[in-house]
Amino acid sequence: MTLPTHARAVIIGGGVSGCSVAYHLSKLGWTDIVLLERKQLTCGTTWHAAGLVGQLRASQNMTRLAKYSADLYLRLEEETGIATGMRQVGSISLGLTEDRRQELLRQATLARAFDVEVQEITLAEVKAMYPHVHIDDVTCAVHLPGDGQCDPANIAMALAKGARMRGARIVEGVRVTRVTDDGARVTGVDWDTGDEQGHIAADVVINCGGMWGRDLAAQSGVTLPLHACEHFYLVTEPIDGLGHLPVLRVPDECAYYKSDAGKMMLGAFEPRAKPWGMGGIPEDFCFDALPEDFDHFAPILEKATARMPMFETAGIHTFFNGPESFTPDDRYYLGEAPELKGYWVAAGYNSIGIVSSGGAGMALAHWIAEGEAPFDLWEVDIRRAQPFQRNRRYLRDRVTETLGLLYADHWPYRQVETARGVRRSPVHEHLKQAGAVFGEVAGWERANWFALPGQAREYRYDWHRQNWFDNQRAEHMAVRTGVGLFDMTSFGKIRVEGREACGFLNHLCANEVDVPAGRVVYTQMLNAKGGIESDLTVTRLSETAYLLVVPGATLQRDLAWLRAHAGDRAVAITDMTASEAVFCLMGPKSREMLQAVSPAALDNEAFPFGTAQEIELGYALARAHRISYVGELGWELYVSTDMAAHVFETLREAGADHGLKLCGLHALDSCRIEKAFRHFGHDITDEDHVLEAGLGFAVRTAKPAFIGRDAVLRKREAGLARRMLQFRLDDPEPMLFHNEAVVRDGRIVSILTSGNYGHALGGAIGMGYVPCAGESAEDVLSSSYEIEIAGTRHRAQASLAPMYDPQSERVRQ
Ligand SMILES: Cc1cc2nc3c(=O)[nH]c(=O)nc-3n(C[C@H](O)[C@H](O)[C@H](O)COP(=O)(O)OP(=O)(O)OC[C@H]3O[C@@H](n4cnc5c(N)ncnc54)[C@H](O)[C@@H]3O)c2cc1C
Repeated sequence: MTLPTHARAVIIGGGVSGCSVAYHLSKLGWTDIVLLERKQLTCGTTWHAAGLVGQLRASQNMTRLAKYSADLYLRLEEETGIATGMRQVGSISLGLTEDRRQELLRQATLARAFDVEVQEITLAEVKAMYPHVHIDDVTCAVHLPGDGQCDPANIAMALAKGARMRGARIVEGVRVTRVTDDGARVTGVDWDTGDEQGHIAADVVINCGGMWGRDLAAQSGVTLPLHACEHFYLVTEPIDGLGHLPVLRVPDECAYYKSDAGKMMLGAFEPRAKPWGMGGIPEDFCFDALPEDFDHFAPILEKATARMPMFETAGIHTFFNGPESFTPDDRYYLGEAPELKGYWVAAGYNSIGIVSSGGAGMALAHWIAEGEAPFDLWEVDIRRAQPFQRNRRYLRDRVTETLGLLYADHWPYRQVETARGVRRSPVHEHLKQAGAVFGEVAGWERANWFALPGQAREYRYDWHRQNWFDNQRAEHMAVRTGVGLFDMTSFGKIRVEGREACGFLNHLCANEVDVPAGRVVYTQMLNAKGGIESDLTVTRLSETAYLLVVPGATLQRDLAWLRAHAGDRAVAITDMTASEAVFCLMGPKSREMLQAVSPAALDNEAFPFGTAQEIELGYALARAHRISYVGELGWELYVSTDMAAHVFETLREAGADHGLKLCGLHALDSCRIEKAFRHFGHDITDEDHVLEAGLGFAVRTAKPAFIGRDAVLRKREAGLARRMLQFRLDDPEPMLFHNEAVVRDGRIVSILTSGNYGHALGGAIGMGYVPCAGESAEDVLSSSYEIEIAGTRHRAQASLAPMYDPQSERVRQ
């Protein structure tokens, strides 16, 4: 086929991901598109996938996408005439421990909340459906009748055919050697067939290059952090009397089982995986397999043989080892790269690319065609990737862990163990000496809680109270009754400067930011639908300069949003994160403590709530912001990193006389949830309307046009379709983490978007939306509420206003 010189979009890679993007773009009427595959369709990872299509995922939208894939794959054969092998054989997951029982039952609740059919089944029912499996030690079993298995290569071929039928060009044997750009946006691709080279001009390029995708992206300065790992399964010779079996997962033994054509497949998610392709992925790779490693697979087979004695006698037909891309957090990447306009990505599928690609291709096609994600995709958004994650040694070390984590216990607060310590606060060693137990976000080491002298500095994970519960309580109560110090250096800090800075930010922010210098404004940046793109504070430093403070995890996303909207305006947008440390001194005694180290006037008149001032602190200077994410009197102290250790030491020294307690992120979160402060990515996302999120108080529609203003006015007119409520369990014992089901008058209506323990309120606290079209606030609150945790319902109080300090008197004291 002769290649065009111009296309609306070029898709790189003919695996299931690229074929799905092509299929869905063409369905949206983008027919002038070209998919280029360097060798043959499916020849990378897709051809050898096991073909499991499981719908139980960790969140609402991931479940939605998996369910979409399953439904699509059932229809594809009729549409394209290609047999996809998709059969809804159902699946059974077995738990062997009490912890796994909790996890499976919680997942079942989550699935039910999203209308995925799921039942807890008895051991007798397991045996009836799966006679070959030993069940003596099984603690729990759940059955999903809608789960299935398919032929992955044919799924990709059917998607490709569906795209072709609508006009897309799919060309094999053409390698993209470079994505070209003009310094700001993509201009097309250079290609090479071996005999011929050429260029296709395009405004949109989508990297679906699987494990090759990272290095291709890096050529363009795009961060796509993934690394290949060896991934194993074996297939037996035909076994007599195998029968028709559902897919079986035994995560506690790192194993899954699939029967097909009378043979049994056993797949492994071993705890310590083998990275592969450290020197780059070979150019000539085409339907290749990697060498066997029986010693590596043996521990899984040993357990499988005990679980399913047929493996003792069955002959092994294939021992398969194939490479697959894994990412640092086990989530794939979708979206437009923040570094380069028009450079889109759908890659890094962590061994769930078949089940995910149908939905992911659909979501990405809408995102490309309409300029906005169709719903919240933050979990898999490419903008969560950190530039340092291009480091290949980091990736290699991390993926040894992430492959196994897919089948490991997904306890709340579970921390990764590999490739740690990359980004540290200047006072990291101080925190460590004080007993800090660290967690990691965006590469940052952050003190999550402080161990007492003699206490083990480690997590003991659990679905109930974990070993740090009392530490969190002590830190939490210090903030409520005395004074606590948090190191929040990981905050993202963005300086926006220039003569048009004020107008620019007022166009993006829903709150008024044309305020006197020294004012701190809490605001959201909205999209055109009124959804929340960013949740931040904006501090006016001078007539022409602002400091934006955002969560560490969203910094790249926020920078990308700002840069995408800056256009020709005279503004400079600079990431200042590494230049300042942040110490949050919080609690009713924070004023008296700060006064001990600073001569600044700190009373309400001289230093009112919502303002920032430079103060002397010890021998240093700090910019103190009087705001609070914990709902108490307090100051966030921004200190140049070279003076951070001095300021920290000064505070701790003075703190000895004031009962100062070092506090971690777990206490920060438990305090903020008592005050019902929203957490971006959980309680508020780009899918959540700012008014329904209960943040209308931070929106100034009296201001001239800002993005989202019309959507706010429309919603005011139409009324809220749902409201964010805060819940407190009556029983002080159970814990809430998030994703538990919200039950209104006996019926599941939604899930909790976040949860933690309210140590001052005396029970677990959750936040969640309740659908309420046409209802008043009183109607919503007049219902009775329960929260379903692992199948058990617990009575809960519900409130629209924060249950802790509803009038916010404490922050203003
Ligand atoms: C052993 C094993 C079992 C698995 N089992 C399952 C399962 O049961 N269920 C499930 O959902 N997933 C499973 N997976 C995962 C699944 O196979 C992958 O996630 C999926 O195939 C990834 O698809 P992809 O399109 O991203 O990558 P690929 O299939 O690798 O496609 C990328 C394509 O891009 C092409 N390409 C790369 N660079 C260029 C370039 N410069 N120019 C042109 N073309 C280029 C490559 O040739 C390749 O064909 C399994 C994986 C393995 C290894």
